[in-house]
Amino acid sequence: MKLSTLGEFGFINRIAQPFLKNLPPSIIGIGDDCAVLPWKEDASLLVTTDMLIEDIHFLRAQISPRDLGYKSLAVNLSDIAAMGGIPESTYISLGIPYDVDVEWLDEFYAGLHELAEAEHILVLGGDTTKSPTHVVITIMVLGKANPGLIKYRSAAKQGDIICVTDTVGDSGCGLRYLIEKKPLDDDGVYLINRHHRPRAQLDEGSWLALREGVHAMMDVSDGIDSDVHRIMERSHCGAEIHIEHLPLSKQLTRASKRYGWQATEIAVAGGEDYCLLTTIAPEQYSIISEEFKKKFNRPLTNIGFIKGKETGLRYTENGKQIVLHQHGFDHFI
Ligand code: ADP
Ligand code: MG
Repeated sequence: MKLSTLGEFGFINRIAQPFLKNLPPSIIGIGDDCAVLPWKEDASLLVTTDMLIEDIHFLRAQISPRDLGYKSLAVNLSDIAAMGGIPESTYISLGIPYDVDVEWLDEFYAGLHELAEAEHILVLGGDTTKSPTHVVITIMVLGKANPGLIKYRSAAKQGDIICVTDTVGDSGCGLRYLIEKKPLDDDGVYLINRHHRPRAQLDEGSWLALREGVHAMMDVSDGIDSDVHRIMERSHCGAEIHIEHLPLSKQLTRASKRYGWQATEIAVAGGEDYCLLTTIAPEQYSIISEEFKKKFNRPLTNIGFIKGKETGLRYTENGKQIVLHQHGFDHFI
């Protein structure tokens, strides 16, 4: 059987079964943004790992080694943010081909160090090997969270409001600039920077974790379409997304107009936004969104609702059901 028959997520579900069956109830294993293990009375241990491979996740000629170091750590921190946790230490494993020089690696570590220092994270280890042709980066991050406050993908409830903590699609649009080699106007510079230097929303994650009424949470790594499916699977529910409510930056809107790109499809399927996707009890949404706006100076945008499982994932535009042509990122489909 080809992997494309299962897709990335079908494959993960298939291999996860025997490992989930024998898991002690105090441990959360495969299926969320981080694994969760008991640690201390007031803190659980969070563990996450993400891999970045040249020509799959980045083009070496297009991203500076400094940005790549920064991004490689940021995407891992984002999974800690998604649980409402605080990152503490990181482990960096590299596969390095012959044509990478020491100065490139110094810059990679300078970018990584910049973010590690800003977020007070200790770099405690890793591994180094040669690689035949491509740079391979695997990062693991350990973090902690109050066991009673951890947010899981499985906690969405019917009627919840689905929210995102930032604009979506900027990163996907920045990638489009790079792939189509568009001239670097101001919008392009902004969007490519969003693609190369994502911000893990750690403060937003910890803040939301403290709010009663915040149910499921995850980070947007594969695109709203794919990531809402992940919440639906884990929470056994359906969802309705209102396409006209997706928060789009003015840069994304302008660039899409200029080049005839479908802004909403980029927003839904582009991925690598690394903002948070969360579901909130409807009676608590207005107070939480009001306080969020005061605290972070941008909206916590309502993009739809959690529905019954039978709905599946439905998209509407101004009340009318629509069909999208692009879906979120899957490595094998
Ligand atoms: P994220 O995008 O948040 O990093 P992924 O979609 O990569 O999450 O992974 C979903 C879940 O599957 C996570 O719990 C992750 O640890 C687990 N996972 C992914 N790949 C594998 C694998 N090859 N073996 C075991 N678990 C995996
Ligand atoms: Mg994630």
